[in-house]
Amino acid sequence: MKNEEETLDPSDWTEVRELAHRMVEDAVRHLDELRERHVWQPIPEDVRARFRTPLPTDPRPLGDVYEELRTNMLPYAMGNIHPRFWGWYMGSGNFTGALGDFLAAIDGSNLGGGSTAAAMIDMQVIDWFKEMMEFPSTASGTLTSGGSVANLLAHTITRNMMAGVDVRAEGILGLARPLRFYASDQVHSCHQKALETLGLGARSLRMVPSDERQRIDLSALEAAIAEDRAAGLAPVCVIGTAGTTNTGATDDLRALAAICRREGLRFHVDGCIGAFLKIAPENRALVAGIELADSIALDPHKWLHTPFEAGCVLVRDAERHFETFEMHGEYLQLQTRGMIAGKFLADYGLELSRGFKALKIWMSLKENGAAKPGV
Ligand SMILES: *Cc1c(COP(=O)(O)O)cnc(C)c1O
Repeated sequence: MKNEEETLDPSDWTEVRELAHRMVEDAVRHLDELRERHVWQPIPEDVRARFRTPLPTDPRPLGDVYEELRTNMLPYAMGNIHPRFWGWYMGSGNFTGALGDFLAAIDGSNLGGGSTAAAMIDMQVIDWFKEMMEFPSTASGTLTSGGSVANLLAHTITRNMMAGVDVRAEGILGLARPLRFYASDQVHSCHQKALETLGLGARSLRMVPSDERQRIDLSALEAAIAEDRAAGLAPVCVIGTAGTTNTGATDDLRALAAICRREGLRFHVDGCIGAFLKIAPENRALVAGIELADSIALDPHKWLHTPFEAGCVLVRDAERHFETFEMHGEYLQLQTRGMIAGKFLADYGLELSRGFKALKIWMSLKENGAAKPGV
């Protein structure tokens, strides 16, 4: 038909509805039979070859495309959703979260900003995380792809606040003295990557020895700060870890908060693994003091088992957070009415277009409740 408009919509909604129902049936069976399967298996060469074919130019029925994925993708997953996956520290997803991802795509909103229910859900999830961490309601936060970006955002705020010059205008060449961040030798490698990315260099992260319980040695930390000050460097931040990747150790967060207050440093907590212990009645004492941080990185895709990706950074001083990332092209002026009215979520991070990853977290938290007992 000549006059028919080109579209990405299905040509037959009845057919696609049936196929979608089949995908849901298969997905439920896939999870139901998970325990019967291998945790992981190598991808045979003929299957690999299926993923090396050139760009498709001609159309194929969606049912065929799905069949190809069903046989060639689903059996060759990482295995982290399997109960017998013991590798690293990783979340295992959850079915509600998968439905959330689907519904988020159906809603289709761009979470860069806007007067949408999606944006309200995004902001509510941040508020809930603040509540969980006992952060003040005036704090800010943003959902990120994961902990690496959450930590990067926190360190960017610290760099800009502590540089002594307007880093946004002058860049790091304007720094009077090299900045120093402190963390234990158990700290996650993403911090070095973040500081390299920020132009501060790997040497700006001073690793302090850990004690016999893999926690940062407090007297070694104080000595390092004093030594660096005497050498003309600028100590700016202590990174405490709540749950190290190597052993799950948690630094003495209260003691670190006190040192930071005394020394005039910012206190950041990498809680990518352990922050959510804060809602575990019997074990919350393990992360006591996390509520004293200036910023916290946490990873819903780890101990909340949100399907990948979902990270988060919370920042005590919302104003400094906003000042670090706010940016408004002429096409993005803040408005007081209409679809674009209100807070611009993109002013709190690096991404302008943002996905609706809040929904999978929101649905699961509503469904389970924060008081859900552990097993
Ligand atoms: C996983 C992890 C990170 C990095 O987070 P991603 O979500 O993988 O980017 C940072 N710090 C700690 C302690 C972690 O366990």
